[in-house]
Amino acid sequence: MQPRLNKIQYVHKSQLNNIKKCSRQFLYKDIYKLKPEFVNESSLTGSAFHRFAEEIYLSDKQDKWDDWKYWVQFWANDFQKRKEQCVADGIDVGTSEDIKSEDFVEMIVEFLKQPYNRFAEPVLIEAKFRFYIKVGKKKYWFEGTIDQLLKIEVKYLQGFPFIGKPNKDYVYIHRDIKTGNRRSMSEIGLTTDDNINVYSYALRYGLFDLKHDNSYSVFVSHIPFAHAIYYTRDHLKYKKNTGKNEDGSYVHKPGDYKGQAMYFVKKSQEDLKMMEPELVSLHNKINSGIYTRDGAANNLCDRFCGFKKVCLHDWRTNG
Ligand code: SF4
Repeated sequence: MQPRLNKIQYVHKSQLNNIKKCSRQFLYKDIYKLKPEFVNESSLTGSAFHRFAEEIYLSDKQDKWDDWKYWVQFWANDFQKRKEQCVADGIDVGTSEDIKSEDFVEMIVEFLKQPYNRFAEPVLIEAKFRFYIKVGKKKYWFEGTIDQLLKIEVKYLQGFPFIGKPNKDYVYIHRDIKTGNRRSMSEIGLTTDDNINVYSYALRYGLFDLKHDNSYSVFVSHIPFAHAIYYTRDHLKYKKNTGKNEDGSYVHKPGDYKGQAMYFVKKSQEDLKMMEPELVSLHNKINSGIYTRDGAANNLCDRFCGFKKVCLHDWRTNG
């Protein structure tokens, strides 16, 4: 029998992602707060990239946009610290064949080169927020952190499809930075993306903690011109299969094609209303006390889950 669990009042954006992947993994990670047996190196390198993309807009090193070596070193130091922390916590760090350190160097160099990055004016960077959705008398609270809200001159966005017709020479773009596996950026994928939905709701209705003192007192009330998933891995050439190894695995070599990097979607006031039922139902699911092993059916257990041992042990002993 599972112990009685306290309800999560403020559901974090990352918990929405976790409950959708595997409810049982969510239980171990977000409720029991167990340490995973391992983490993939790529998640640490990605977190270090996020830190770089934050630091370059917030620090006094703004004159270093041409100094890619400085930023690569910044990223490498941050990654090393994260790795050492895992070792100190007794968590194994698994290496990843999927994306290598040299790929991150190229991603940093390309990030620095893009005028839509270099000449953007930061408005919100890594800003914590809270908001609620009211159903009857009940308030469903959510929280998270906005990656970047930037003011960008339209001339730097000319090459992108679906940027519409701004009536000013600059636009406000909210963007979520991704370094993970390539994903399909279809219209439906962008429109229903949980992260973008939560962030767009927060920008319009949320309270922000801009003083970093947990005050959550600033009402931004903003609908940006567009939201973007900034897929920094698109700065690398897409790989193509060029044959097979002796063991049957495919040989991947860089092709000639790069993706567009930023993928835009608009969110109107009406769109924000439409996402409320889904967010409320996820809030209820998180606090339902029922945590099924969805990851097994989704093939997530072996490569992506650091809770395999406890999950299997519980299955055999408690169910
Ligand atoms: S081992 Fe599989 S089913 Fe169990 S928690 Fe992990 S992902 Fe979920």
